[in-house]
Parts: sequence; structure tokens; C-alpha cells
Amino acid sequence: MKRLGVTGGIGSGKTTVCRILEELGAQAFYADDEAKRLLAEDPSVREGVVRLFGPESYLPGGAPNRRFLARRAFADQALLDQLNALIHPRVLDRFEEAAQQAARARVSLMVKEAALVFEAGAERQLDAVVVVDAPAAARIERVCKRDGVSREEVTARMARQADPSALRRRADIVLENDGDLERLRRKVERLYRDMTSS
Ligand code: ATP
Repeated sequence: MKRLGVTGGIGSGKTTVCRILEELGAQAFYADDEAKRLLAEDPSVREGVVRLFGPESYLPGGAPNRRFLARRAFADQALLDQLNALIHPRVLDRFEEAAQQAARARVSLMVKEAALVFEAGAERQLDAVVVVDAPAAARIERVCKRDGVSREEVTARMARQADPSALRRRADIVLENDGDLERLRRKVERLYRDMTSS
């Protein structure tokens, strides 16, 4: 069983690619969802977050105070780095467990979707990394439509991310999501065949 990383900038189509791969028989692990789960549920993560950001990090009912955390982390790169250092190694561990379990269950392909792959050192756990990319105008339009947010908001989020050309240079495979969904599906079917044929 091969392990495939899927990454790319906001609105590039990472999740869509992973959903198609799942339909084809792959098992997918969504790193950002796992990070959110750890933030909400893991006692040692909670303890570390409170140490870094203070008691306001969690709401009275116990759920993470996302708005507060996002504001603090975006304003202070050192804090963001420390938060990532707290959560990322645990996400890597969870992926490792999931991938080993999938291999025992004879899953055809294990896919990890993550906004950060190279930064977190996660490529060491993967056989190949696909970078999904699309023209900036298409990404902006798709995210505005999906999230109901303004162009300015999407552009600001894009500006905080890695430059797509830097991502593309580190990719094993670049998947251009520059056509319609049908075209993307055909490309993903080819990718699935390539990844599961050897
Ligand atoms: P994020 O980084 O924000 O999680 P993402 O990279 O996972 O984004 P998706 O959520 O897969 O991106 O795609 C963004 C939106 O664009 C979704 O609503 C998806 O349905 C749509 N989309 C993706 N690819 C295409 C395409 N080729 N044609 C039209 N719409 C598309």
C-alpha cells in the first residue's frame, strides 16, 4: 500500500481530489480535521495550549475559543510556531497509526490531505506528494462561492500561505486543477491507477 500526500494552497482543490480518491477505494486522513479534534479533545494538547495562550483559549463549555486563538496566533508568529510544534507531531503519530491499520486491512491507497506537508516534515511518512494547483483567479472564485467570503478575505489568506511555485518545485506530482470537475476526476482516476498499479 502506497501513502500519498495531497497538499496545495487554499481553494486549489485538495479536498475534492481526496474525496474522488476515496470514491475510487483509497482511505483518506484529513490532517486539519485531526488537528482540530486534538485541540478540542486531547488533554495534553489542551494543557499546552492553555500554557501558551492562557485560560481564554477554551470557552466556558470546554470548546476551543477558535476566534481568540486565531487572532493571537496570526498576530504572533512565535506563538503560531509553538502551537504547531505542539500539535503537528501528534497529527503525524495519528496518521502513522491510521496508515498502519489501513495496510493491515489491505486498503489500496492511503491518502493524507494537509495544508502543510513540507513544513511539518510529513513527507518522510509518504511515498509521494501531490501538489494540487489552480490559477489564482479560479481559487479565489471557488472559495468565495464555497465559504461566502469576500475576495479580499481569500486574497489575504492566500498571501499568508506558501508561494505556489515553491510548493510545485517540491512536489513529486503536480495536479493542475484548471478545468471543470469532470476533467479533474479523469486526472485523479489516472493518478489512482498509477499509485495502485505497482
Ligand atoms: P481549502 O484549502 O480551503 O481547504 P481545498 O484546496 O481543499 O481548499 P476544495 O474545497 O477541494 O479546495 O475546493 C474549493 C471549492 O472549489 C469547492 O467548493 C470545490 O467543490 C470547488 N472546486 C474544486 N475544483 C473545482 C473545479 N475543477 N471546478 C469547479 N469547482 C471546483
